[in-house]
Amino acid sequence: MDQTGALSRAVEMIGRADRVAALTGAGISVESGVPDFRGAGGLWEKYDPFEYAHIDSFQADPAKVWHMLREMDRIVTRADPNPAHLALAEMERRGKLTAVITQNVDSLHQRAGSQNVIEFHGSHARLTCPECGRGYGREEVDLDADPPRCGCGQALKPDVVFFGEAIPPSALELAVQTALGCDLMLVIGTSAVVAPASMVPALAVRGGAKVVEINLEPTELTGRVADLTLLGRAGEVIPYLVEAVLGP
Ligand code: NAD
Ligand code: ZN
Repeated sequence: MDQTGALSRAVEMIGRADRVAALTGAGISVESGVPDFRGAGGLWEKYDPFEYAHIDSFQADPAKVWHMLREMDRIVTRADPNPAHLALAEMERRGKLTAVITQNVDSLHQRAGSQNVIEFHGSHARLTCPECGRGYGREEVDLDADPPRCGCGQALKPDVVFFGEAIPPSALELAVQTALGCDLMLVIGTSAVVAPASMVPALAVRGGAKVVEINLEPTELTGRVADLTLLGRAGEVIPYLVEAVLGP
């Protein structure tokens, strides 16, 4: 299907839906200057994510992994929400979107104004001591320390889900409920290869929902789980869809 036809079909599908949910991945934040794992973006050329983002690497050498975490934190705190984040927040304000399930840890949905954000992979904005369990807000911690430490002396860990760690149970439960309860899911900027987040769209289908995917390129979902795939930049496609469905 050509893109114009696909866009108008998406507008029709979203217009008809009563409970729209979104699942977002790193791709929605690329236009904010936060690189995803695959695109050319400096950070992940220096640090192999599958090495640096594995819990075993963190436990073996927290100071080493903190070099990557510190750099990611700088990128994320300097970034601003882009038109895709803002359009999803607008969709929620206008009663069309029930929740955003995000794999991102960058807080950009919340900063755009989204209220109901399910952080499937946690957040960089909080840290916890793996030893004594004390929690810290990011602003309470000296991130330049090598590594940042808890009052008890242990290296702090950001509340992001590393490879090899479980999804926070409450986020998992909310994501499952949201997926089963929606009648249309927008899947934006995710390659859908990191499980179990990659299974969320299939759950939505099992609950009877349609899936509309927005990505720069075809993914694992394209032609299978997704009823419709829109190829384009999230920062252009999402605002277009929201305005076409809800008006200016
Ligand atoms: P991913 O699996 O979510 O893949 C990124 C996808 O976004 C790719 O399919 C790519 O084609 C698409 N994309 C890139 N730019 C786009 C754009 N402008 N518009 C639409 N689609 C676009 O993410 P990943 O990089 O493979 O990372 C896997 C895990 O790491 C996920 O949990 C991810 O969220 C996390 N991560 C998070 C951040 C963040 O918090 N911003 C950044 C990097 C990685
Ligand atoms: Zn401690």
